[in-house]
Amino acid sequence: MRINALPSGNGFTFDISHAPEKSLARAGTISTPHGDIATPAFIPVGTKATVKAVLPETMKELGAQALLSNAYHLYLQPGPDVLDEAGGLARFMNWPGPTFTDSGGFQVLSLGVGFKKVLAMDAQTFRSDDVIAGNKERLAHVDDEGVTFKSHIDGSMHRFTPEVSMQVQHQIGADIIFAFDECTTLHNTRRYQEKALERTRLWGIRCLDEHQKLTLERSQKPYQALYGVIQGAQYEDLRKKAATDMAALRSTDPDSPIGFDGFGLGGALDKKTLGTILTWMNEILPAEKPRHLLGIGAPEDLFVGVENGIDTFDCVLASRIARTSAVYTMVGRNNLSNAVNRRAFEPIDDECDCYTCKHYTKAYLHHVFRGKEMIAATLATIHNERFIVRLVDQMRAALVSGDYFEFKEQFMGRYKHLSGQARD
Ligand SMILES: [Zn+2]
Repeated sequence: MRINALPSGNGFTFDISHAPEKSLARAGTISTPHGDIATPAFIPVGTKATVKAVLPETMKELGAQALLSNAYHLYLQPGPDVLDEAGGLARFMNWPGPTFTDSGGFQVLSLGVGFKKVLAMDAQTFRSDDVIAGNKERLAHVDDEGVTFKSHIDGSMHRFTPEVSMQVQHQIGADIIFAFDECTTLHNTRRYQEKALERTRLWGIRCLDEHQKLTLERSQKPYQALYGVIQGAQYEDLRKKAATDMAALRSTDPDSPIGFDGFGLGGALDKKTLGTILTWMNEILPAEKPRHLLGIGAPEDLFVGVENGIDTFDCVLASRIARTSAVYTMVGRNNLSNAVNRRAFEPIDDECDCYTCKHYTKAYLHHVFRGKEMIAATLATIHNERFIVRLVDQMRAALVSGDYFEFKEQFMGRYKHLSGQARD
């Protein structure tokens, strides 16, 4: 099936080529003005318009099809006007492909209120001080209009509203942008979750209105697709309500009301119930529109996402753990700083086809990590990003050839689980 999410000729489409029966999984292609993304796909994160330690050319070579940056960080520095003047995010960072920006909703709340940067996925290992740093000054205030927050860089005061988030994301110019949402945690009360959900719904309408206005005003710019964000924490009725509401949401323009081009599935998610929660949402969301799972990227969770109807993923985990010398292998994670690697004159993973594994040994990586050499982060990040990008590409190939579940069984039979949900 083929759809044009907004008036024809805008350059954004989603084609589903394979959708196995008795599963929500699908393989397809998202087309954007800056190129195509074969889905399912893992989208590496370059929070501040750079994947830390790795050249964009190298990201392309290792198979990344698109990159995701963050509107909050780019708003604070260098400022969205700079990116607009540079010709948009892709041109600014010399990335020859599609880009996404996260709305800033998660960051103004997480960096502002004093969440730690990593939201643990597993609620059982979640302590309250992992969520709200106790003695930290409260740096963000949410009201029905928007969020007032203090910059984590210099303490200056700022205000994000749905309109501001759209203006900032239009100036940054990514191909796929997200509606401004209130991201809650699993520990907010049920009453608060209901309130946040309704606020996100009303903000969604304001995002659509502002997006429609800016799209018309800036009609000479490449079309940007807007995804609505589904929240609702761990509650079945709230997740279903959010999916129903967001799918039906339209701008208030009486002549040509627009809806969302796709959907972002957000919020802190409990690892054990991830698949169930995705099913609640994806059985309701229109099948013909693409779905992005925000901030999830551990191998075992990617399988859960793909078979429950996710088309694209982003996560900072692969690059963040690489900088601490942790690398993925076919049998689980390895730490290159461990003494056992001192004389390991073999690649990180002999089944990996990345540049690092082709040219370097674990012994060399152990040496450069111990010596705190900058090349350590570069080589380890190349490996981890390739590992995750390739894994999702392999899932796609297995969906196309009809042996997805065999591939999953083979991979998971060897791979040892480790949790991870992480957003910058
Ligand atoms: Zn490798």
